[in-house]
Amino acid sequence: MLAAYRSSPVNRSAQTTAVLDQLDAANNHARRCFDALREKIGSERDATPSTGAQVVALRFTERAGRGQISLCQHLSVTAPNPAFWTPWAPGRIRCSACSAQSAQRIKGTPEDRRCDSCQHDSGGSIYQNAVLIPAASLKLPELIAIQLPIVIIFGLCPSCQRVNNGNTTHAA
Ligand SMILES: [Zn+2]
Ligand SMILES: [Zn+2]
Repeated sequence: MLAAYRSSPVNRSAQTTAVLDQLDAANNHARRCFDALREKIGSERDATPSTGAQVVALRFTERAGRGQISLCQHLSVTAPNPAFWTPWAPGRIRCSACSAQSAQRIKGTPEDRRCDSCQHDSGGSIYQNAVLIPAASLKLPELIAIQLPIVIIFGLCPSCQRVNNGNTTHAA
């Protein structure tokens, strides 16, 4: 997963330990955000990611692999924090505040009704979903590569939701 998208090298120094500690904290924080989100949308905690979720996660890793995702101004690999990615605004990984703003911007627009897996209009009943990509660090002799923990938030239409293997969710 680490190689799947651009991670930034950080010089190994006294700072390194601090960054890794922060990464741990960010990871725990992201896990809490994710759990709260899953609870809110009524999704089972350890359910297998659905086919729709895999489609969305793949879209993320492909875009990131092409270097087409940047970080919002509040995020940095040297000060790790939970980060969010949404398929309807795919050019950026956002902090929680910027992510909330981006969700607000599509409220009531056709984008708000579009299924993030098949891209069709959901007809108004969209099922919220979330996937967590945990933080990781790769320690090399001279460098460490850091990947921020990322929560992917997306919506599925009823038919994509139906192929959810065992995930039970409620319409938003
Ligand atoms: Zn931000
Ligand atoms: Zn769909």
